[in-house]
Formats: sequence, structure tokens, C-alpha cells
Amino acid sequence: MSSRVYIGLGANLGADLGATLTQAALQLAALPGTQVVALSSSWRSAPVDAGGPDFLNAVAALDTALRPVELLEALQAIERAHGRERPFRNAPRTLDLDLLLYADLVLDTPRLTLPHPRLGERAFVLRPLLEIAPELAHLATGEGWQAQRIERLGPLSL
Ligand code: ATP
Ligand code: CA
Ligand code: CA
Repeated sequence: MSSRVYIGLGANLGADLGATLTQAALQLAALPGTQVVALSSSWRSAPVDAGGPDFLNAVAALDTALRPVELLEALQAIERAHGRERPFRNAPRTLDLDLLLYADLVLDTPRLTLPHPRLGERAFVLRPLLEIAPELAHLATGEGWQAQRIERLGPLSL
């Protein structure tokens, strides 16, 4: 059995952020029992709650047979392969992969919270997510996200 999941991709460190996100999407597609069923455009966004360069963001929809914690571990392995370091909270990053939604699962553990707790207040998540899944508009519950600076760039090709 496979589940529909949504992954938020973000990067703001590195020479070619578009190449990073494209490569990450290919790595998601290569996970066992997993298919990429939709990939948003790339969106350029201002950092939220942090300094540093603008981000490039995207959201991927996957169908996967991986269980939630298995998937989280796979996402973290891909982040590490891109040299992700965590020197301080909200630090600039080569690649961030957040598990936004795992089917309709609700979970609150130290390691994994679902849906992602800040999903509904972030333009850089909501704009690409709603681009590929407009039926999820009810998740945009936060205040002020529509005022966050973000612009749509071109498609990310796989
Ligand atoms: P934010 O969570 O606000 O987007 P971040 O992405 O910078 O911040 P990280 O340092 O990447 O935060 O992750 C911190 C921890 O969050 C991870 O070690 C992971 O165990 C935990 N976590 C909890 N729920 C999730 C989720 N839905 N997706 C990804 N990580 C999660
Ligand atoms: Ca994040
Ligand atoms: Ca993260």
C-alpha cells in the first residue's frame, strides 16, 4: 500500500540552487517504493525568521510505500548528501527537506510532527503546495503569509 505525501524542498546556500532542488527531486524519485507524482515550480522567497540569502523552494507530491519515520530518515540522508549542517536554528542551508503531510496522518512526537507544524503560516510552503494541490487550500490557516515576499520562477524539470 502506498500513501500520498508532500515534501517541502528549500535551499539558500550553494552555487546553483535550481540544480540542488532538481537533484533532490531525482533522489526522492529514486527512493524505494516511491514515485514523484507532481513537482511544483521553483519559487524564490525571502528568509522567514532568519537572515541570509533568498531561498529557492518547491514542493513535491510523492506516492510512497515507506513508513513515516523511514521516509523522514531517507529525507535526512539526502540532506546529509548535500552537506547539510545545523550550526544554529534557522541557519542558511544547502538543502532542507520537510515532511509536510503524510496522507491524513496526525502525529506529535519529538522526532516527527505531522502535519508539519508551521506549514499553514509559510508562503514558501503554501504557494508551491497549492500550485500542485489546490484542494489543500484549507491548510492555509496562518495570518500574514500572503504578505511574505515570494515569486514564482520557472518549472523544475526532472
Ligand atoms: P522548521 O521545522 O521550522 O522548518 P528546520 O527545517 O530548519 O525548521 P531542522 O533542523 O531541519 O528544522 O529539523 C529539526 C527537527 O525537526 C528534525 O531533527 C526532525 O526530527 C524534526 N521534525 C519534526 N517533524 C518534522 C517534519 N514533519 N518534517 C521534518 N522534520 C521534522
Ligand atoms: Ca524547514
Ligand atoms: Ca527541516
